Amino acid sequence: MESRSDTGACFCGAVAAEMQGDPFWICFDHDDDCRRAIGSPLTIWVGYRPDQFRFTRGKPRSFSRTKGVVRTFCEKCGTSITYRDEGLSDELYVTIGFFDHPERFKPHAHAYWRLRLPWLEFADDLPRIDTYSRRRDPAFGNPNDR
Ligand SMILES: [Zn+2]
Repeated sequence: MESRSDTGACFCGAVAAEMQGDPFWICFDHDDDCRRAIGSPLTIWVGYRPDQFRFTRGKPRSFSRTKGVVRTFCEKCGTSITYRDEGLSDELYVTIGFFDHPERFKPHAHAYWRLRLPWLEFADDLPRIDTYSRRRDPAFGNPNDR
């Protein structure tokens, strides 16, 4: 069987990327940092090992506000692209909005459930986790404690 391959691009098309193989984790994220960074009531992060991901066109800008966390975005159109976190080594997250076929990525859980907007309702039976849904190295602290 051929290995899965997915592609994505920003809104203006200046930045594109290719992802090889299956993501290891797909998660709703209700965290308020990501809400503001992305400009959306919530996002869905698609998690890969860094060597599964490569840019095929253009190069994004990066931004860090939280220790150990680097976000990338298209400098022309502002589309959010990736999230790297030194506390989550060997993990790279891609925003679902960046994908050419976001319908292929069904989430496995809700992260930061306690921070969700109160009028959002979900009928799924996915796990609802009040913190990061991945084990994060405590040496980097909790971004919410800043
Ligand atoms: Zn763009």
